[in-house]
Amino acid sequence: MLDSLPYLKNSDFPAISRNKLEILQVNLGYLCNLSCTHCHVNAGPKRTELMDKATMDEILTFIDSHAVHTLDLTGGAPEMNPHFRYLVTQALDRGLKVIDRCNLLILMEPGFEWLAGFLAKNRVEIVASLPCYLKDNVDKQRGKGTFDASITALQKLNALGYGQGNSDLQLNLVFNPQGATLPPEQQALERDYKQHLYEHFGIVFNHLFALANLPVQRFGSVLLSTGQFDNYMNLLKNNFQAPNLDKVMCKNTLSVDWQGKVYDCDFNQMLKLPLGTDNKTHIRQVADLTGKAINTLQHCYACTAGQGSSCTGAI
Ligand code: SF4
Ligand code: SF4
Repeated sequence: MLDSLPYLKNSDFPAISRNKLEILQVNLGYLCNLSCTHCHVNAGPKRTELMDKATMDEILTFIDSHAVHTLDLTGGAPEMNPHFRYLVTQALDRGLKVIDRCNLLILMEPGFEWLAGFLAKNRVEIVASLPCYLKDNVDKQRGKGTFDASITALQKLNALGYGQGNSDLQLNLVFNPQGATLPPEQQALERDYKQHLYEHFGIVFNHLFALANLPVQRFGSVLLSTGQFDNYMNLLKNNFQAPNLDKVMCKNTLSVDWQGKVYDCDFNQMLKLPLGTDNKTHIRQVADLTGKAINTLQHCYACTAGQGSSCTGAI
């Protein structure tokens, strides 16, 4: 991957190191019901990589001996992993907060009628991607008909109590720009999303996370093929904000791939960029990471540009 994105080599991104580990972000596989143009995972319906139950048990063993408080599940569509329910319930039994990064459309797929009820019953926090509140933009990025299906899915979650003021069922939405631009100011965008979705569809949610697009995988290839790669990298670098360095998500989060291999973040996972300077490459080998160097390259400027970008939006 790095060979196809040569500009990511020879980085001048400042050196950073880890704080205490608090969050495990686990990628359950690259199988997805969608194939979005901005996808940094290259996920899709034809991908076959899926985490097996034995690897999940190794992750649970790691949790048992580390003070991790949150399990953040991602993919692909993490719910398409046949052992999704096993890992969620095991983590909840251990007192962890569980986050499901849900593409919404999966809630409407045949065979997944159980999903919304399962998430609500187990108080799983949902972080749902809705790249825009306008139909045309969503259909362009995710495929025809995806906006209407996302709206129906959000209404289904609201009916279960998600996103309602009197409920602890958290429903957060994710925005990312359509192209090679930085996301707009998160608070103002959240107000627009809330107003539009409530007025037109009666939908409520808790927070909006505005994420920058990382110049890797499918989006990186689109930038290269359209001649925008250099401009986008310059945009990220020109908007570098040093205070964001203390809050990038790799400071307290460890990314685990479907085989149990570990990385400083989900983006490094996609670039096959190994964990820090340490030689530990699998979750079963990882001990204390505090103070360890983080493996950074030019793509990291997407996390520090402007208002910053992390798994929970602006930083
Ligand atoms: S962006 Fe999300 S929903 Fe879209 S293809 Fe990638 S993993 Fe699937
Ligand atoms: S891309 Fe990953 S390693 Fe780089 S700053 Fe962002 S979270 Fe950290």
